[in-house]
Amino acid sequence: MSPRLSRRSLLAASALLPLGLHRSTTAAPVAGPYRVGAFTVTPLRDGLFPLEPSMIPAADSAAGHALLKGAGLPANGPSPEPVNAFLIRRGERHWLLDAGCSTVLGPGFNRVTAALAAEGVRPNQVDTIWLSHLHADHAGGLLTPRRRARFANAELVLQDREVAYWSDAGARASAPAALRPMFDTAQAVLAAYPDRIRRISGESELAPGIHALPLPGHTPGHMGVLIADGSERLLIWGDIVHSRLLQMPHPDWTVIWDTDPAQAVATRRQIFDRAAMEGLNVTGMHLAARGRIERADAGYALR
Ligand SMILES: [Zn+2]
Repeated sequence: MSPRLSRRSLLAASALLPLGLHRSTTAAPVAGPYRVGAFTVTPLRDGLFPLEPSMIPAADSAAGHALLKGAGLPANGPSPEPVNAFLIRRGERHWLLDAGCSTVLGPGFNRVTAALAAEGVRPNQVDTIWLSHLHADHAGGLLTPRRRARFANAELVLQDREVAYWSDAGARASAPAALRPMFDTAQAVLAAYPDRIRRISGESELAPGIHALPLPGHTPGHMGVLIADGSERLLIWGDIVHSRLLQMPHPDWTVIWDTDPAQAVATRRQIFDRAAMEGLNVTGMHLAARGRIERADAGYALR
């Protein structure tokens, strides 16, 4: 998300939030933890982002407004969407997947560290952080307000294509204006963790039973994490959806932050189909629940 755009939208959107949603911003119950065999997966809620239909342009339509209204929201939005990181444990080991946005998107976020503390984990006890991608709502939390490394002992693990893209001056110059500020956060993160960036490529094993799953389109190196133990599996699919309400029934509806919208749609459809066929449990950074995918009418649903 563009910090400038998002901060402005956040202020505009929070003025529109009814009282009940304001309250839920600070007190929304967080689902989980989820058990996956011997693994425990705990969502860490950084905050709630007020998503406006203009951020999913096709949703700024009669069909989009009807979905919002049907869910008890104002027809013009916003729709409060979670921003999650995840703590994954097995025995004595623990790993962090993404880190929330810290203060990069304005006030109302920055709760990942407190959520970690509630799990008995201090930032300096985290040695490995997997990153779904380098957007500010996932990587901003790696920085202190002074843009230093918040996790003093952590190595960052991410797809080679992701590091290459955000380090590329040409990519920045040719990106739409709304996306350009994203490069600032991504580059600040890479600079704050010198010699502590581990690049992986494709479906690498991240830990025994845990694999990276490339899901390109939203960003070039966007990836999910597939956790498996015995017959139990959970896919944490990153930003495959930013709005369950709008994009599950309409997988072709893209967000303004997609680097390659056509590829983002193709990837979303592929992973929806695969998850439906394999009966995969899924959750994500902008989902408040875990569930299975089913085909529903012309689109899909999370049950
Ligand atoms: Zn995101």
